[in-house]
Amino acid sequence: MKIIYISVNVVHCQTLHFPFAKYNGMYFFICNFPKVVFLIRFFTLYIERKFWPEYLTKLKGGITMKELKGKKIVIDPGHGGIHPGKTYEGRQEKDVTLKMSKILEELLEAEGAKVYLTRTRDEDFGGTDADDDIMKRVKYINKKYKGKGIDVLVSIHVNTERAFNRIGAFYQEGAKASKTLAKNIAVNMGKNSFEDDLAILRETTVAGAKSLIEIAQIDEEWLDDSDRLKDVANEIAMGLNDYFHDLRLGRV
Ligand SMILES: [Zn+2]
Repeated sequence: MKIIYISVNVVHCQTLHFPFAKYNGMYFFICNFPKVVFLIRFFTLYIERKFWPEYLTKLKGGITMKELKGKKIVIDPGHGGIHPGKTYEGRQEKDVTLKMSKILEELLEAEGAKVYLTRTRDEDFGGTDADDDIMKRVKYINKKYKGKGIDVLVSIHVNTERAFNRIGAFYQEGAKASKTLAKNIAVNMGKNSFEDDLAILRETTVAGAKSLIEIAQIDEEWLDDSDRLKDVANEIAMGLNDYFHDLRLGRV
């Protein structure tokens, strides 16, 4: 649990410090009465999503995501070519994931990270069906990035319109660093993290930590809005920054 103080200058000479606890992706206001500590769920998801990540970044020393400098990050835009992924009224997952990955690449590179995209155009990896294509993608990743000292791999996806809240960051069962990575990304997105068994995470061998991110459900209109994609890319970037911060402080 992280304790965060929000300082409010009440009058010119007096500043009050309000303690908040960050736990499991949620923020609690702490009321400290004698011998009893009350934790009150304080922020709505809307407020967290809109304002909190920015504030947290400021608390950590400026708007820049300084932990990203020099980090090697593989971004894997899900699906592609003859495998469109999820579709909804003409919107195809493979297009959204590529667009999102390119925005994220630009953001991370601007912060000094070295970014590799597993694909930069609409192409598949030669698989006959979706599962086969993932295994060929895994092979490609393991060969292409072997020995490159990749810090993180993120695979970008969009879930079905019947996702039942399975939107957020996934990590492979039992993978400790990946769990920290997924949690940091999910918190910044205002979403949840999930443990799962996914081939792209299980079979890839090149990164210190890996996460598959379901950014939304395919029927969400905002997926066509570049500005909104940029907002979410920024949240993912901040999640990566927070992960590297935790890693540096030995909190992984
Ligand atoms: Zn997908």
